[in-house]
Amino acid sequence: MAERLVKYSRAQQKDVQDERSYDAQCPYCSMQCKMRVIEQKGPSRTQYKTIALDNPTSEGRLCVKGIHAYQHAVHRERVKQPLFKVDGQFVPVSWEFALAVMKEKFTKIQEEFGTDAVSVYGGGSLTNEEAYLLGKFARVALKTKYIDYNGRFCMSAAASAANQAFGIDRGLTNRLDEIEQTDCIILAGTNIAECQPTIMPYFERAKENGTKIIVIDPRVTETSKMADWHIQLKPGTDAALANGLLKLIIEHGYIDEAFLSERTTGFDEVMDHVQSMEIESISTLTDVSVEQLEKVALTFGKAERAMIFTARGVEQQTDGYMAVRNFLNLLLATGSIGKLGCGYGAITGQGNGQGGREHGQKADQLPGYRSIENKEHRQYIADVWGVNEEDLPRKGVSAYEMMEKIHEGEIKAMFIMGSNPIVSNPNATYVKEALEKLSFIVAVDMFISESGKLADLILPTTSYLEDEGTMTNVEGRVMLRPASKEKPGETKHDWEILCEVAGVLGKEKYFAFHSAEQIFDELRVASRGGIADYYGITYERLREGDGIFWPCPTTNHSGTERLFEEKFYHQDKKAKLMAVSNTPAKKKESTSLEFPLYLTTGRVVAHYLTGVQTRRSSSLAARDIESHIQIHPETADKYGIEEGRLVKIRSERGEIVVRSRFSTDVRFDTVFVPFHWAESQNINDLISNELDPTCRMPGFKIAAVHITMVT
Ligand code: SF4
Repeated sequence: MAERLVKYSRAQQKDVQDERSYDAQCPYCSMQCKMRVIEQKGPSRTQYKTIALDNPTSEGRLCVKGIHAYQHAVHRERVKQPLFKVDGQFVPVSWEFALAVMKEKFTKIQEEFGTDAVSVYGGGSLTNEEAYLLGKFARVALKTKYIDYNGRFCMSAAASAANQAFGIDRGLTNRLDEIEQTDCIILAGTNIAECQPTIMPYFERAKENGTKIIVIDPRVTETSKMADWHIQLKPGTDAALANGLLKLIIEHGYIDEAFLSERTTGFDEVMDHVQSMEIESISTLTDVSVEQLEKVALTFGKAERAMIFTARGVEQQTDGYMAVRNFLNLLLATGSIGKLGCGYGAITGQGNGQGGREHGQKADQLPGYRSIENKEHRQYIADVWGVNEEDLPRKGVSAYEMMEKIHEGEIKAMFIMGSNPIVSNPNATYVKEALEKLSFIVAVDMFISESGKLADLILPTTSYLEDEGTMTNVEGRVMLRPASKEKPGETKHDWEILCEVAGVLGKEKYFAFHSAEQIFDELRVASRGGIADYYGITYERLREGDGIFWPCPTTNHSGTERLFEEKFYHQDKKAKLMAVSNTPAKKKESTSLEFPLYLTTGRVVAHYLTGVQTRRSSSLAARDIESHIQIHPETADKYGIEEGRLVKIRSERGEIVVRSRFSTDVRFDTVFVPFHWAESQNINDLISNELDPTCRMPGFKIAAVHITMVT
């Protein structure tokens, strides 16, 4: 691993009495950029520097979030001792006390209300080992069916679509460097320039090579600025847009008939479906001209090699699953998959959005992407864990639906690890009310988050500089994150906490782990023969190289860099196309006299998810200290909004107040608000509780709102 960018002034070197360095990976997005953090201790202060480290994915780059990530890890507000709430105030307690409280509370609640009364809520930033162990903890230590995680809001639409179409769900079907070797790229609903900035050079180099780039996004973004064509469609009409492109591609004869007949099923149904549509009606529905649809369809259809990437803009809709399926129809119809420079990518948002969804944190899932409702899968995992198959709980419900189960009285307690559900769920006030109803909440976190404030017990965990483990990046490459910084105070790694809690619940023999590597070795066996097969990946191999792509079934296997060269992963080895309606069965929220504008939400470059870490980083907070509403100046004028003033945004669910920021980058009928802030700036207070019927993804990307200036 080569070192890049060592930059110190002579003045900075002065007065350094002790210097240590810690190799790590950025704790934020799925690029998992490699870095070294240098700690320099002097007589009066300790200062930190971040150096980017070379590796095949991030190629020695870091974005502003990664450079400043250490600021939260060394922040004075880190929780360093267990905290127990007494009379509404947190007081420090010992681990022995904390463990005894959990034993007493969990046991009592489960004796009175049944094992499912205690629920588990995980996160997509946990290491593979910790995500795996959390799933095992829920099923074996607590014996509850109620476990889900915040990745439900991130990857569920793309994951379900890829599983149904291809029989496997891996974020990218190819290595990132194939991007430079394609002729046409569609980027649908993804603002990579702000969300995964170090991925951008792949697309920039592609452009230099003559690749045509098409960006589909209602907003002008830093990403759309590099596009040859920017389709600024009406929010929520992605599925219809893909139907329009499919129709034109078929009409112009750009389908790959040989590929379709040999390697897919379902095309005839799709063809009949799109041929029955009028292109003019799709144009009206999407607010994209027929001429633009033609240009894009012809560019994509003519390309010898083509790729499609989707992200939350398409996926965080109540028809996100269907919309992604339709983009996959486009790829399959043109035979643009399973070959060099041809493939699909779901750009993962969270650091371990990929690995975190493969090994058992999801309500319906067992490790290796096995199904909790499949008898053979259950038996295999029961044997690995040394438990009876009949004792494994069945499928639970999705993250938001767990909140409904609390309101219904079925869930009485929650164990939260690495997540802040009050801020990340839709209909946030309802979610807060749900947590307030619980009789016992444990939050495992580095800070007292907004959800942590409602907890009875906070367990202090370690940061990315302290906690070693594997993460699976956006490519599907499993990487070992080294972490050698000493644990501060009485913090413990997530996996240590899970082992200790399981121990006091009498399940120590199933959780007798002493290192992350030991857990990974069990995960390898648990995943063996499953769709996400990690068996051939070992720490030893990871220490020696640049990561290994799954599936990797044997220790001699070099990993699978490009999927689908020979087969898809359904039993008949074929991919499945499926006809997709222009409009979802259940109508999406639309504007009205009372709520005349569309609201859409997303990220800004300086912040990550609910902001618990990045809002505590002074350098990142300085860039965006508060939330804002991005609004077109003409729309602002119509509603009497002045630049830089506080604006009340109201939907049927609630209202928040944020500052106005004028921009012609947003459509006249749409406003944009980022989702990294909490409480009176929590935009998810305004989002509806409607879920995608297939993958249970909430419709974060659309709400109808009303705005007024606060006078
Ligand atoms: Fe890399 Fe993503 Fe971290 Fe930026 S946020 S440094 S792109 S991993």
